[in-house]
Amino acid sequence: MQIREIHERLGARGALPCHVRRLLRRWSQALPPGHGRLRPEDVPPQSARAEFAAIEAELAGLATVAAEHPGEDGSARLLVRLADGQTVESVLLPRDGVCVSSQVGCAVGCVFCMTGKSGLLRQVGSAEIVAQVALARARRPVRKVVFMGMGEPAHNLDNVMEAIELLGTVGGIGHKQLVFSTVGDERVFERLPQGPVKPALALSLHTTRPELRAQLLPRAPRIDPADLVELGERYARATGYPIQYQWTLIEGINDGPDELDGIVRLLAGKYALMNLIPYNTVDGDAFRRPSWERAAEIARGLHRRGVLAKLRRSAGQDVEGGCGQLRARMLGSEAT
Ligand code: SF4
Repeated sequence: MQIREIHERLGARGALPCHVRRLLRRWSQALPPGHGRLRPEDVPPQSARAEFAAIEAELAGLATVAAEHPGEDGSARLLVRLADGQTVESVLLPRDGVCVSSQVGCAVGCVFCMTGKSGLLRQVGSAEIVAQVALARARRPVRKVVFMGMGEPAHNLDNVMEAIELLGTVGGIGHKQLVFSTVGDERVFERLPQGPVKPALALSLHTTRPELRAQLLPRAPRIDPADLVELGERYARATGYPIQYQWTLIEGINDGPDELDGIVRLLAGKYALMNLIPYNTVDGDAFRRPSWERAAEIARGLHRRGVLAKLRRSAGQDVEGGCGQLRARMLGSEAT
């Protein structure tokens, strides 16, 4: 379901935009029924009431939690079942954040990602994206929404932008607290600056070498990492928020001195933060995670050379590792 459909259906029954906004606010913020005092002008016309009730019932059934796995770090992984039976993952993050999925599967095929192995199964509707936030809010406060779950948001841009617009308005999330995470796509740099709600941007870089990037992210747009950083810098300066660069550290692949020199060359002096995330080793996988000490040394080295770098664990790593692994395990257990 798309948010634009809700506006169209209710508008056709004579509901005013303020009535629709009220419904969307209550739903997206998971407010209790009857929240707030109703003024006479807030009551939808008789002609629209049945449609309001029908839409509220549809919104309530858009997404349900099929499994919940709390982590030791205060996070929790949710396996979210959509109305057609497909599943996506959301992660409740420590400090009032939620990570949501924008696609079922993903076409980019990053070699270190479980989600990428399934290919793209379908797009997640804009209302299904917001429903993940509403599910999270029914469990704990949410002040930050990151689009870093399953899927590449740039490949579902209309729906993701629609969800961002709702969350950044009636959804009550600060614009800087909405984080659009992408491998980099020209359309993102064209469209995001035009939207009424401008999210912060996270760019998955992973290497400074174009040929290695083509191997690690096989179906990402072929944008030279140096050009990607230039596009990111322009967006950061225009919005006033730094770009977060994501770098999955893989031992012997992208943790050597040549890459660190490349990061310094591209990012020193930029309005940027480098997040280093040690690879989450999966059984039978060809890639290895560097030791925490080695990763910490890399972060310190970058810092000394003028790049703001942070070492991060991916949230809920003790539960089911990286994005897509909980879903993969649940599908495996359903198949047996
Ligand atoms: Fe897609 Fe992100 Fe996984 Fe890459 S890391 S395959 S972009 S979900």
